[in-house]
This record gives sequence, structure tokens and C-alpha cells, in this order.
Amino acid sequence: MTIKTVGIIGAGQMGAGIAQVCAQGGYDVLLYDASADAVKAALARTEKGLNRLVEKEAITSAQATDALSKLMPAGAISDLKDCDLVIEAATEREEVKNAIFKAVCEHLKPEALLASNTSSISITRLAAATDRPGKFIGLHFMNPVPIMKLVEIIRGIATDAGTYEIAVEFAKSLGKITANSEDFPAFIVNRVLIPMINESIYTLYEGVGTVEAIDTALKLGANHPMGPLELADFIGLDTVLAVMNVLYDGLADSKYRPCPLLTKYVEAGWLGRKTGRGFYDYRGEKPVPTR
Ligand code: NAD
Repeated sequence: MTIKTVGIIGAGQMGAGIAQVCAQGGYDVLLYDASADAVKAALARTEKGLNRLVEKEAITSAQATDALSKLMPAGAISDLKDCDLVIEAATEREEVKNAIFKAVCEHLKPEALLASNTSSISITRLAAATDRPGKFIGLHFMNPVPIMKLVEIIRGIATDAGTYEIAVEFAKSLGKITANSEDFPAFIVNRVLIPMINESIYTLYEGVGTVEAIDTALKLGANHPMGPLELADFIGLDTVLAVMNVLYDGLADSKYRPCPLLTKYVEAGWLGRKTGRGFYDYRGEKPVPTR
């Protein structure tokens, strides 16, 4: 099975980045989202991202033009029918992902592979709800996709050896380095990272430090390139909360209890950078802490 055409479902922060690296890797890419505006915005962002790489002389303008010519919007999920691989990168909610897989599988050829970019949800369970558990795999890209080197690869209990081999080769063909994770809640990176972010939100909630103090402390005291609250805003607070809930439900341990302050921010629709406000307010010239 050779992958030539890749379909991407979900054109948010992650879907747009995955589309860009796939196009740069020489694949034909179809990008679909429930919101046509999201697809339009993602393609505009990708064009900007590629132009920035040209300015930095990381790629030539011919390479940027070539990548852009490989990126196509898909107006309907049925447009993905000829894809060899479909990567789902939609909102981190199991019912949303299940509905997407059900809809897309009706159109795909039997040999097509399916992958999810989920940050935390069981690959085995997502796969079991499709018509092709053997051809289903977790391909967990990191944010921002064009910059971050890692792709975590997660096999469900039914994932075929052949599917795994193709997935590893595919990730490598995008210039990525892979790490295998067993299929347990939140895999490796987020099992460690998201509880650390949740703890930093508890630190804020309990008044141990301000947003600025907590981020400065971790940047200068632990040599983290971004503070944990800044990073939470970058990931999206809805995604952070969803991952904590998967850890809490999946491992049944109170140490994974999502901080009530995180829930409150999500309830307010203050989801971080993508909505203009989270632990920082991004609507002005420079980010200002919201607490
Ligand atoms: P996002 O909110 O930026 O984008 C989600 C997109 O999914 C939106 O454009 C939305 O319109 C679309 N969508 C929702 N329902 C849909 C449907 N039924 N059909 C088609 N499109 C639909 O979220 P994101 O940060 O890009 O995250 C997407 C996935 O990637 C999640 O599973 C998340 O856990 C995972 N992920 C996120 C990060 C991160 O740092 N944000 C990192 C790795 C993995």
C-alpha cells in the first residue's frame, strides 16, 4: 500500500499544520472541516507559514509553490473517497470523532488507512467503532506541527503490523521522529505534560502565585521554553480539560482531577490563543495576564 493522497479532517490549529507538513512531504492533501470558513482560514495560514519559511530561506519559493499546489479544500466529507490515508484532527471529543469516522468510512476504499491525532482518547476504542480496526492507528503530532519533531505512534489492540509499519514510514517521510506509546490514557507526552499544566493551574487557583509568577518560575527555574499557563493557552484550554477528563476517567485516580479554575475558563469560552483570551488576553499588542 503506497500513500499518495492524504485526507485531513479538522482544519484547526493541528489540522492546518498536518496539512502543511504533508504537502511539503510531497503528498496530495485534501482538507475538510465542518466549517468551510475554518478550511479557508487554515489554507490562508498555511500559505503565510510557507512564505515565512521562504523568507527565512528554510525552503525555496518553488518548494512553497509546489506545497501549496498540493493542498486542496474538500467541501464535503465524501470528497475524501480516494484518499489512501485519512488523519482526523477534529475537536477532542469522542462522540465528535466517532461520528466523523462513521461518516468518512462510508466513502473510503477498503484498503484506506485511518489515523487519529487525538491527544488522549483510547485508539482501541475509537478503532472498534469503525469498520477497519486493523487499519486504524494513532498518529499524534505535536503543536506547532511544522516545527515540532515528534510524532507519537499509538497502536490499538487490533492495529495490523502492516498499518504500523506504513504509519512509521509515513511520519519519517515528513521529516519527523517517532516514539511508540502503548494505548493508555493520554499516551506518553500528555500523561506527563497535562497534569503538570493542571497543577500549575491549581497553583494559580490556590493563590500560590500569579500567572506571571508561575510562568516566570517555570521558565527560569526549570528551564522550560514556555511557562505552563502560556503553554496551556497555546494548546487550547478545552483540549487541556478534555485530556484531564480522559486521565481522570480512564485511570480513576483523584490526582488527575481537573482544576475547577480550568473548567471555569472553558465555561467562559476563554480557550486561550485561539479565542483571543485564556490565562492571558491576546487582543492587545502584547499578552496581558487575566488574573
Ligand atoms: P481546534 O479547536 O483548533 O480545531 C478543531 C477543528 O475541528 C475545528 O476547526 C472544528 O471546526 C473542527 N471540527 C469539529 N467537529 C467537526 C466535525 N464533525 N467534522 C469536521 N470538523 C470538525 O483543535 P486542535 O487544537 O487543532 O485539536 C484537534 C485535535 O488535535 C484534538 O484531538 C486535539 O486533542 C489534538 N491535538 C491538539 C494539540 C494542541 O496542542 N492543540 C496537540 C496535539 C494533538
